[in-house]
Amino acid sequence: MGKKELETRLIHSYFDRKQHYGSLAHPLYQTSTFVFDDAQQGEARFSGNESGYIYSRLGNPTVSELEKKMADLEEGEEAIAFASGMAAVSGVLIHLLKAGDHILISEGVYGCTFGFLEMVKEKFNIDFDLMEMNSENMIRTMIRPETKVLYVETPINPTMKLVDLEMVIKIAKEEGIRVVVDNTFCSPYLQQPLTLGADYVIHSATKYISGHGDVIAGIAVGPAEEMETIRMTTQKDIGGVLGPFDAWLLLRGLKTLALRMDRHCYNARYVFDLLKDNPNVKNIFYPGDPNFSQHELAKRQMKDFGGLISFELQGGKEAAQRFMNELKVIQVAVSLGDAESLIQHPATMTHSVVPEVERKKMGITNSLVRLSVGLESPKDVWNDMKQAFDKTYAKV
Ligand SMILES: *Cc1c(COP(=O)(O)O)cnc(C)c1O
Repeated sequence: MGKKELETRLIHSYFDRKQHYGSLAHPLYQTSTFVFDDAQQGEARFSGNESGYIYSRLGNPTVSELEKKMADLEEGEEAIAFASGMAAVSGVLIHLLKAGDHILISEGVYGCTFGFLEMVKEKFNIDFDLMEMNSENMIRTMIRPETKVLYVETPINPTMKLVDLEMVIKIAKEEGIRVVVDNTFCSPYLQQPLTLGADYVIHSATKYISGHGDVIAGIAVGPAEEMETIRMTTQKDIGGVLGPFDAWLLLRGLKTLALRMDRHCYNARYVFDLLKDNPNVKNIFYPGDPNFSQHELAKRQMKDFGGLISFELQGGKEAAQRFMNELKVIQVAVSLGDAESLIQHPATMTHSVVPEVERKKMGITNSLVRLSVGLESPKDVWNDMKQAFDKTYAKV
């Protein structure tokens, strides 16, 4: 039998049920350490002469199960689970970069990824440039002899701008540079960058992978040999490992990823179709919008358009905040990809650390809100927005 479809692989497991009383669901190994038969076995485990678990910072069966599944879903060789998306980002980048190196980043990158790069620039002399990666020539111009990594997020938060992965990967291959893709916004269900030739994929598994808003977690997927190095260096020695129960929750969440993503995408389309005709809305940033500047790229690169919509309201920050305060079904919170619809105001929340000039350049105005469309009835999500629009603009 050939390889099963992604929807099937999301559900089925790697563990041998016979060794676990036939348990249908994943066993949870909530343990810090593993007892050896004797001193000699401990010696053999540490020397690598015998495989087996030692201590949960170095590996845990429940966490391994998640790692095997994520590697499979992203079509990569090996995955490592981390304590957060940021632990995965920093773990991979510390592995790939050393003092004197340079990294090119797609503009609008996740705020803490930017913060991490600023920190390593100052402390460890690793330089970086942010750029809108939409032109092959511009990317080539920005590449220096010291450039080791092209770091891409697509679509980017909150402007939903895309980066053409095939283009970036082609340049990187020609220049001998590694490509790292933060695939958080798509999940492997909508986009699999490794199949296009990217070297590493990173997830904030806190978002769609979990899907239930109850875990902070990260995943990195990449080439086996290097992932093994990461496991034994940046992960083991810096220590941002995922706990077994969080891994168990992610395994549980993954079973419904395909169903959830389909519904997120459907609901976002439903909301967009009504939002686009609303006179109180100025600009909508949604890859599924036929008028979106990169709609064709989105159609080619993503299986569907995702569950995120950003839009500007008439009346600036005051109207945006009033609108958010009137919502009852949609919750005011950062994060995304949860069952609950969530709305946030990037200029004063996720991107408040970015200087205003930079924000303006990226298109993050004070009128902009970002909606993560959840799994509720789309009618209720829209009705909630409609009553909030009515109240917001009645009061003006
Ligand atoms: C949330 C997020 C991160 C960071 O993940 P945490 O799990 O919060 O550490 C990184 N990248 C993107 C695109 C995110 O949305």
